[in-house]
Amino acid sequence: MRAMLGLSITKIIFTVLVVFLVWRLFSWIRQNRLKHSNRQNDLGGSDHGATLEPQDTAQCAVCQAYVPVGTGNCGREDCPYPLS
Ligand SMILES: [Zn+2]
Repeated sequence: MRAMLGLSITKIIFTVLVVFLVWRLFSWIRQNRLKHSNRQNDLGGSDHGATLEPQDTAQCAVCQAYVPVGTGNCGREDCPYPLS
């Protein structure tokens, strides 16, 4: 009886641990993604970009980042556009 109780407690602890680790992993991924997009926004508005300048920009279809027309590559590692 005591052995069964011990086993179930171990199971519960293990389950809680797994759930905790998965939750930590997901929050870490979400935070990482948020940080990444924030960095992209900083790059886009680097030229004192308080106002939207009538500059020709094109949205990168994959990265969703706005880049000046002709540049193509938005600077991301996984950007499919080649650096010109
Ligand atoms: Zn891109």
